[in-house]
Amino acid sequence: MARVVLEVRDVTKRFGGLVAVREMVFDVNHNEVLGIIGPNGSGKSTMINMISGTFPPSSGSIRLNGQEIAGKPAHRIARQGVARTFQLVRLLPELSVVENVIAGAAFGHRKRWGAEAESFARTLLERVGLGRQINMPVSSLTYINTKRVELARALACEPEVLLLDEWLAGLNPTELETGIDLIKSLRDEGRTIILVEHVMDAIRSLCDRCVVMSSGAKIAEGTPTEVLADEEVIRAYLGA
Ligand code: ADP
Ligand code: MG
Repeated sequence: MARVVLEVRDVTKRFGGLVAVREMVFDVNHNEVLGIIGPNGSGKSTMINMISGTFPPSSGSIRLNGQEIAGKPAHRIARQGVARTFQLVRLLPELSVVENVIAGAAFGHRKRWGAEAESFARTLLERVGLGRQINMPVSSLTYINTKRVELARALACEPEVLLLDEWLAGLNPTELETGIDLIKSLRDEGRTIILVEHVMDAIRSLCDRCVVMSSGAKIAEGTPTEVLADEEVIRAYLGA
């Protein structure tokens, strides 16, 4: 039996009169890549924001290894083992690549300081393909490289669950291939990942299971092959 790491139960988020996420229910198993897919505005980032503590759910429960995390502040949830990247990259532009990753290491569940934090950050930057750029200011990086820094920073927290919100968005076809391979290598290490994604090739090749959202609600759940053949899913994507 798979071990459940994250349990989302009846989670709803309202922004004023808008229900952005409606009674969401899903589990994430240890060593699994769960895709959250759905049209723009369907509530995917809102779901990620509630798991990572950017804002609390209006109601419902989110458990990490059996412990309630819903409504806790982001830094505490990070400390408990959830790290994320942002759909719009958020780095400290005046700091160098390695400094940004060291900053991430300080938020993890195991604090690292000084030389230990730096050597860990270097290892992670090599891991994401940025070994040669560690001292560059983040503001001078190409777009894909800023995404790599964000990924390294999230990994620096040594997360038990890694949340990737459209990490592949905006990459050109060559970069996309590199990016998919990088996520694949994380998956092959046995990491537990929630992947919010639009890129169908990535969904097919990376996800063990997918939850499909439309207008805030879950409309399908299953393997990528199952959900991408589902009539309701196809209708949601066509906007019919
Ligand atoms: P997705 O990531 O699937 O594109 P979002 O989760 O970003 O969708 O948005 C879902 C809905 O919630 C949208 O209608 C969006 O405008 C709204 N929304 C998201 N964040 C906020 C917020 N902080 N305040 C008000 N409305 C929001
Ligand atoms: Mg989004």
